Amino acid sequence: MYELKNSSEVLVKKSLDEYLATNEIPCRCERCLTDIMAHALNRLPPRYYVSLKGEVITNFNAQLYPDKARVMAEVIIASQIVADAPSHSRD
Ligand SMILES: [Zn+2]
Repeated sequence: MYELKNSSEVLVKKSLDEYLATNEIPCRCERCLTDIMAHALNRLPPRYYVSLKGEVITNFNAQLYPDKARVMAEVIIASQIVADAPSHSRD
């Protein structure tokens, strides 16, 4: 019924979507996007909360996430890391 969620993960995903809307990266495949999230999340503290299973946060309140600017900075760094060294060949 309940599950553990990491709001840092939700925020990284949202920040990555925002970043990709206005910036070009060499590859947008699922592998690269997941790699970007992994790099960013490894550098951010986790913020766990309990949510009802299946519940989706639709209104993301920026006030509740004071480290949004830091998360975006980490997403940008992670995007550059993956762009420079993708996990797959560039074919
Ligand atoms: Zn890729």
